[in-house]
Amino acid sequence: MGRRLCCFRGPEPSGKNKNIFGTSNNGDADLYSALKNVRVFSYNQLKSATRNFHPDNKIGRGGFGVVYKGTLRDGTLVAIKSLSTESKQGRKEFLTEIDTISNVRHPNLVQLIGCCVEGNNRMLIYEYLENNSLAIALFGPKKMQISLDWSKRASICIGTARGISFLHEEAEPRIVHRDIKASNVLLDRDLIPKIGDFGLAKLFPDTATHISTRVAGTMGYLAPEYALLGQLTRKADIYSFGVLILVVISGRSANKSAWGPDLRSLLEWTWSLREEEERLLDIVDSELVGYPEGEVLCFIKVALLCTQAVSSQRPSMGQVVEMLQSDGSSIDVKSLTQPGTVREIDRSSEYPGSSSGLSKLHKGHQQTDTYAFITSTKNINSSMQASTSEVEPR
Ligand code: ATP
Repeated sequence: MGRRLCCFRGPEPSGKNKNIFGTSNNGDADLYSALKNVRVFSYNQLKSATRNFHPDNKIGRGGFGVVYKGTLRDGTLVAIKSLSTESKQGRKEFLTEIDTISNVRHPNLVQLIGCCVEGNNRMLIYEYLENNSLAIALFGPKKMQISLDWSKRASICIGTARGISFLHEEAEPRIVHRDIKASNVLLDRDLIPKIGDFGLAKLFPDTATHISTRVAGTMGYLAPEYALLGQLTRKADIYSFGVLILVVISGRSANKSAWGPDLRSLLEWTWSLREEEERLLDIVDSELVGYPEGEVLCFIKVALLCTQAVSSQRPSMGQVVEMLQSDGSSIDVKSLTQPGTVREIDRSSEYPGSSSGLSKLHKGHQQTDTYAFITSTKNINSSMQASTSEVEPR
């Protein structure tokens, strides 16, 4: 693929022969020739694309910072993520990493098209998705919700599964997403799902080792072994995807604020219904009418399989894609064991300091004052024995 660098003007160099990367001009040339996929934007280009980062163009805010909608000079719509979290990397390493992520392309992944690294500004430029996130489509403000019938929900699940399967099994380098959830699934104009925020782990502090010491996932979607021990493997994404299926089917949020501290989580509720298979359909969104019961049941069974407490009992994403397109008869709900679930409980609870089942939780990029409590401990020890071959470093 040819080099795709557009013209940019950096801030005034501090040294005679220094450029914005802090390298000599010769180093600069080397760096440019090493970048194959990423398009480097100037801050001024992004300023004019967003009308000086006008509040009207602000489309969201996430853990990494504010997101703006922008229009490039050729008319292309983009989403510009202005990173507020300090990167642990120098500019050169940052650009090299972004160049690598830009090369990870799949119809179910949000395409990273460029970045900006001027002064203290670090920004990522993504393709713009017209229909916002799945979270907003399902439970955002009423005027932003999208009516999703079963066939749309099913294809959103299957497309998302394909995207994760690609990250896990085909992308170079292989990538564990770490934060699969409804707000990280964006929808294009045809409601094709695209997963965002993948591959960013290496850019931020304390996340680059093969077993991350900080948990970057979101409560309700967190695999127990990841939440409690920071063991990050593909199986953590597969767990989160299982929860996502339940969110899509039920139209309910997976996080505790939607359920209250004494109520069961979506996953626990679903598990409690398993004795009579048809009762599993109790979780189906009341907005869904005339859905194919067998197909929906198959999706729920896949979700329960993906969220097994013992991570080795969860299927691979490739298998999940296949199962979602099957009749589900190969999944015997009776043979499943209880899913592992993690809850946030208040620090002032009766358990502080206890070592069993409780662990200080790191959420997002900041430590929170909460503890994670694993509600299903029966099989957790064996689930902790993730083989090193399962562990992916990104
Ligand atoms: P977190 O950072 O905690 O995962 P998040 O996923 O909501 O939360 P961002 O990925 O920063 O955070 O996105 C914030 C919001 O910006 C999204 O919910 C979505 O509404 C919007 N957004 C992000 N990327 C795009 C995009 N490529 N196209 C259109 N809208 C986007």
